[in-house]
Amino acid sequence: MSSLAGIGPETAAKFAEVGVATPAELLAYIPRAYRDWREPMPIGSLREGEAIIVGRVLRVKERRGRRATLITAALQDDTGMIEAKWFGRQYLAGRIAPGDRLFVAGRVARAGLLPEINVAQHRALRENEVWQGEIVPVYAATKELSTRTIRTVIAKNLDRLIAQQTDALPPALVQRFGFPPLARAWREVHAPHDLEAAARAKERIVFDEFFSIALAAAVKRARREAAGGARALTLPGGFWDRFIAQLPFEPTAAQRRVIERIWVDMGRTAPMNLLLQGDVGSGKTLVAAAAIVLAHEGGIQSALMAPTEILAAQHAAKLAPLLLPFGVTVEAVFGSLGARERRRAEEHIASGQAALAVGTHALLTESVTFANLGLVIIDEQHRFGVNQRRSMREKSAAPHTLAMTATPIPRTLAQTRYADMDLAVIDELPPGRTPIRTFVLRESYKPRAYELVRKNAAEGRQAYVVAPVIDASDSALTGALAEAERLEKKVFPDLRVAVLHGKLPGREKDAVMERFKRGEIDVLVATTVVEVGVDVANASVMIVLDANRYGLAQLHQLRGRVGRGVAESICVLIAPDDAGEVERLTVLEKTTDGFEIANEDLRLRKAGQLAGTQQAGDSTLIGDIVDDFALYMRAKEAADAIVASDPELSDPEHRPLLTLLDENASARAMLVTA
Ligand code: ADP
Ligand code: MG
Repeated sequence: MSSLAGIGPETAAKFAEVGVATPAELLAYIPRAYRDWREPMPIGSLREGEAIIVGRVLRVKERRGRRATLITAALQDDTGMIEAKWFGRQYLAGRIAPGDRLFVAGRVARAGLLPEINVAQHRALRENEVWQGEIVPVYAATKELSTRTIRTVIAKNLDRLIAQQTDALPPALVQRFGFPPLARAWREVHAPHDLEAAARAKERIVFDEFFSIALAAAVKRARREAAGGARALTLPGGFWDRFIAQLPFEPTAAQRRVIERIWVDMGRTAPMNLLLQGDVGSGKTLVAAAAIVLAHEGGIQSALMAPTEILAAQHAAKLAPLLLPFGVTVEAVFGSLGARERRRAEEHIASGQAALAVGTHALLTESVTFANLGLVIIDEQHRFGVNQRRSMREKSAAPHTLAMTATPIPRTLAQTRYADMDLAVIDELPPGRTPIRTFVLRESYKPRAYELVRKNAAEGRQAYVVAPVIDASDSALTGALAEAERLEKKVFPDLRVAVLHGKLPGREKDAVMERFKRGEIDVLVATTVVEVGVDVANASVMIVLDANRYGLAQLHQLRGRVGRGVAESICVLIAPDDAGEVERLTVLEKTTDGFEIANEDLRLRKAGQLAGTQQAGDSTLIGDIVDDFALYMRAKEAADAIVASDPELSDPEHRPLLTLLDENASARAMLVTA
């Protein structure tokens, strides 16, 4: 960066703050808006909003307050008159005089008889000077880094920055879409001479970016297909009937569709790479079981990795009865296993005696080896790092992989983040569930929520109370420990209250969870350790304290801890009386559709990101995957077609595309991750 004109170490540091650390990132820091300063507007025709005018000063008033100075000048052109106002710019005092010709840019407000303009910028013009206007790019600025500095630095270096770019898109494609050449596109985006051309130029740039991601996904997929190496499992005749004959319930249509799809994918030598999304309680366990059973029939072992011991243990417990009729033996590998048990489990896995190993990241340790691992199932895969997922898969040559998540991913995001995976969705809950009723309450009504808990307990059912932190001694939040103590002593002295949080030793956590499952605890006060997958059908009330601290999707997850039995369940979201923005929580009152909630979450986060308060997922992209989704799909179609005809990109016309893969960070990440 500091090799660029106008950037010393200090400016470089300020740019780094906004995520610009390389010349390429500087070029990609495109304007967030443009000001059209080409044609001054006739004063007589001004409306409220941004405007530029050229006029002559008739009179000037200066008012000096104790804290701020206000300068007012009446400006006139052939069509009318306006009051121009400068707020708090003391240094201008005495600098504006009647008779001056001024260029003025600002925001017009109509107040009183005369229209007013609050001046953002102005310049004195010589007597016969014609205003030479231009379109001015506006950059996302910070207190330390003004849009003007950014503009100057980019303008000074634009030629050099552009020269470093390769126009890699095949000419036929550029032509088909009517795009400008890349160099012209970059120039038009930063120094536009026409707003429409600037919009088309941005489209070209975003297309290249989307195209890079889609191309990386297609290349990766093609490499996986070409490499093969996975065990192609033959589906025995009548397998579906044999499978469901052993189940305690009839699979839903969605479960059946997904299972059949997975069985087909596992029948190929190209390793399956499937992401299964299904809301909490949609029955993903059965799908996992179906994959494991087919693997076992084909003589290969399976591994299932979950992010916590509680979840892994629960998987083992839920899978065992489904797998038992098929002779699938299960071993568990947890960090908390004793040395002797651990060694025995590892022996069974290494010898192939165990058909399925269920565990936490403890499965990743080198001492865990498999005789013939061929199917890897990763639950809540986003909770694992890239390296962890990879080391799991490295325990086998080319395993089929099934990733499962209860977090619905909006289709738009899935297309960029998981573009290299196949997606499957269970979009139907098993029958017999009573929908959860959800209420948003202010904290002063908390006693009412606890009345519900009491009524619920009187009917023999259990409740969760979720707090955002374990110990809130130094914050305004409610801490789990304090709330548990208060509930136990004051609110529910007659009920059995317990507390569960991440700092408890593993054994203690399990013990509390066990007691809760056995119905020996009425009210479980917990942090979000109960977030994912914990399944206690008798729990039917969920109270979330400081609910405004969570994203909608996370609240939806928490809510999914109840509503698992036949009793009607209730979820109460409590926000402090003085917390703003609780309006968004009412989305949860209205819907239980996880995808709808995820979409809404994404929309809100995007809005938040625009307001500069929060970071949304793919904020490093220039394009907006949600708003520009149609463009993404065009890019994907083009990328898929190229890779279908030339998987290695070895055609001379496609060679430059390899640089594209290399230069785009998202594309690079997709290619290197397992
Ligand atoms: P998920 O893991 O997707 O949250 P589970 O696999 O734990 O959901 O299933 C939730 C509950 O629903 C479990 O108690 C399971 O036994 C039950 N279940 C799953 N599929 C069906 C079905 N088709 N019919 C009835 N109950 C089902
Ligand atoms: Mg589950």
